[in-house]
Amino acid sequence: MFEFSTATVLYCVFVAITFLVLWIYYDRRDHRRFELERRKSTFHCIRCDHLYGAPGRAELARCPNCGHENVRLKF
Ligand SMILES: [Zn+2]
Repeated sequence: MFEFSTATVLYCVFVAITFLVLWIYYDRRDHRRFELERRKSTFHCIRCDHLYGAPGRAELARCPNCGHENVRLKF
């Protein structure tokens, strides 16, 4: 007859916890990476009237056209 020893049960629990931790770690890492890519701040250059975007939640970004530093647009 098939019988589970304490060591086998402990091993299975250990493997399950290991995979759970790895799963949560990679899921959160990918989510963070995706959010950083998704969130873009929009800027409007007051010098040359150019609209552009920058990744993340930056408050200041340099205009790619003229190099003037502008404040993020707030809606
Ligand atoms: Zn500009």
